[in-house]
Order: sequence, then structure tokens, then C-alpha cells
Amino acid sequence: MARSVSRSAELFNRARQVIPGGVDSPVRAFSAVGGTPLFVRRGYGSQIWDADGNAYVDFVMSWGPLINGHAFAPVVRAIEEQAAFGTTYGAPTKAETDLAEAIVAAVPSVEMVRFVSSGTEATMSAIRLARAATRRDLIIKFAGNYHGHSDALLARAGSGSLTLGVPTSPGVPPSAAAATIVLPYNDPAALKDTFAERGREIAAVIVEPVAGNMGVVPPEDGFVAALRDVPRPHGALLIADEVITGFRVARGGAQSIYDLHPDLTTLGKIIGGGLPVGAYGGRRDLMEQLAPTGPVYQAGTLSGNPLAMIAGLANLEPLAAAPFYADLAAKTDSLATGLRQAAAQSSANISINAVTGMLTVFFTADPVRDLAGAERADTARYARFFHAMLNRGIYLPPSQFEAWMVSAAHTDEDIERTIVAAAESFTD
Ligand code: PMP
Repeated sequence: MARSVSRSAELFNRARQVIPGGVDSPVRAFSAVGGTPLFVRRGYGSQIWDADGNAYVDFVMSWGPLINGHAFAPVVRAIEEQAAFGTTYGAPTKAETDLAEAIVAAVPSVEMVRFVSSGTEATMSAIRLARAATRRDLIIKFAGNYHGHSDALLARAGSGSLTLGVPTSPGVPPSAAAATIVLPYNDPAALKDTFAERGREIAAVIVEPVAGNMGVVPPEDGFVAALRDVPRPHGALLIADEVITGFRVARGGAQSIYDLHPDLTTLGKIIGGGLPVGAYGGRRDLMEQLAPTGPVYQAGTLSGNPLAMIAGLANLEPLAAAPFYADLAAKTDSLATGLRQAAAQSSANISINAVTGMLTVFFTADPVRDLAGAERADTARYARFFHAMLNRGIYLPPSQFEAWMVSAAHTDEDIERTIVAAAESFTD
């Protein structure tokens, strides 16, 4: 029985008339896998239903926020209660302090927090603060790490190990990207060499402590040690971009697993419970350089929005219970193990990277440890797999270079169904 997506197709055609590409964020358009993007009508727990009424087990999970699943009852209730009191005031509310305290309690390196409305704003503002505090301009980022779409961070590697940034997008002035040095991920020598050469000009190193935006790529020990030890003696700051990993891989973020002590941390996604939120935080002496206590300007009409704060608090609440991350890790593990077995039986050439709550199936037999490795994956093969899974009711990220998000709402049955579907889809 063929799955109909005629209603989604009709909505997509309408959308394309008035919204560029029919979407408000490019990956949603299915350009990397082909076909018609699903227009989502409803979500509950681990599932979504499209406009044609088809149900799917969802591993996109809004790209990370929904660690407790769709329409998580405490989040829904909190939003309803707050909405009846008003949705925004442009004046302080207690909920902002409550959420800031919850973050400070969970993430040891964070002494103060400032809320914004997206991950892009969080990283952009953290970079501004780092540049102001160090009175330096250069930023180091890593190829394949994504930190939002602000000018300075839209630079990626050229072919060399040390490449001055070239803009990824037209409209980014070369001067903005030129202050960004792009180095390979998991390459401690490149980091050391760059600091040896230009250490006195570097304001900050920004890193995804587990990469999620070239597919999942965990950091190797030597890389973690270099992040910990190299920038600081040169007077440069370390910014951990935990927009995905914060409250996902552990309550204290990836920094708590890898014993990183960043000067600044950026957060988003989970801390907003599915509403638009970002945050940056860190050392008190740095954060107090922000206006109004200090001279570094940053502001927002909807920053610390009460609905978002309340939703975030309700989303974080269950994460403090002892078995939460052990359960999530076990679930992610059984998915990874089952997928590996299914691939082995079908002799599909894949390699899987997984950490708690996030996983990527790369269509390459070689282990993936950096962007060059991720780019060896067979993206056409991924596109076929994606559609084979979709036809079996499993909604995966519509790109090879993204993380599958596992949530507390995914049941053992969901995991089993996904493995069975994959076993078939590997041979499709
Ligand atoms: N940093 C990281 C690590 C991200 O994954 C993302 C988005 N996925 C961002 C920053 C930007 O966040 P936003 O899309 O909310 O602007």
C-alpha cells in the first residue's frame, strides 16, 4: 500500500510561492535526499503525523530540543498556564532567574547566563564577548562544526590544515570570514601549530565538544587535551558550543564527560523545551562585561521570553532524576548495536558514531573522525536509505550530515521497529 503525500505536496507547492524554497531553514526542504518534505500536522511522544495522516517514528525531534518527546505533558501544561498570564512583557520575570539557576546548578563552568532567542544569537554574542574581553579579533573554529549563520562563523576549511576562512555564503564579507581560522576537527597538532604561530592574536577557540553537524563525530582524547591545555596559556578563551549536546549527552553537557572547562558555553534547543531559546554563559568576570554591568552590548525584545523560560524549566525537570541519562544511553546503545548487526547481515558498508542521545549512520566503511571522513560517505546511498526508512514509517534527518536524536519518549518497541526497518532498507 503506497503512502500518499499528496496533501504535503500541495502544501509544499503553496509554500514555495511565498517562502523561499518553501521552508524557513534549508535542510527541511529535502534537497539532499530528494522528494517532498513532509508537512507535519501533529507530534506526540516519539511520533509525528504528516498532513496526509501518515505516522512516523521521529528521529529528527526538531533537531534536538525534544529530549522528552513531542507534546511532553509538563511542557504543554506550563505553556498553557503562562500563556493565560500573557506571552511577553519586555520586563524581567522570575522564570528567567529560575532557568538561569537550573543551568548554573547543572553546568559547573557556567556561573552566569544570558538568554537570547536562538543558538545563532548565542554563539554570535559569545564571540563578541570573547573578542571584547581579550581585545583580539581572531577566532578558531573547526571544519564541519556549525555554530549558526552569523557572518564570522560561516567559514569552513579549505584544503590545507591551516586555512584562513573563506565565506561559505555569498553576502558574507571576506573581511568577516578572514578573522576566522578553520582547522580540522580531532587534529591536536593543527591547533598547537596555529597557536605557536598566531597565539597572541587569537581571541577564542569555538568547538562542538561532540560534533553533531557533520553527523555525529566524538572528540578523541588528544583533541580534548589540546582544547583543554593549548588556548589558555596564550590568553585565548575556550567556547564550548553545546547548543546540541547541552543536557543531551549528560546533564552537565559534553564538557562534563570530557572534563573540559570552557570559559564560555553556548546552549539552546533542550533548555527551551521546544520554544525559541538560546543562551550563553560562563565565568562571572566575563559575563559581567555585558551591558548593563559592562560595555559589551547585546539585547533582545523577546530574550528570556516567559513562555520559553517556563517550557525550558519543565523540560529540564525530569533530567535531574538519576536513571535519565543511563536510560537514554542504553537506548542509544541498543539502537546503534542493532543497526550495526542489521548492516553486517546485509553487507552494507556503514560506520556508526553514537553518543548518548545522538547517532549517525555514515554510508562509508571507514571510521569517521573529521569532516574529510564524513565527506567520504555515499550521500546518494543515504538518500535511498532515507526514503526506504520513510516508506517504513521512520523519519530520519533528511541529510547524511546530521544527527539522529534519540529521546526519552522512544520506546523499546520504536527502537526494535527502527532496526527491523533498517535491516530491510539496507538492502533496498
Ligand atoms: N550551534 C550548534 C552546535 C548547532 O547545532 C546549531 C543549530 N543546529 C546552532 C549553533 C545554531 O542554532 P540555531 O539554529 O538555534 O540558530
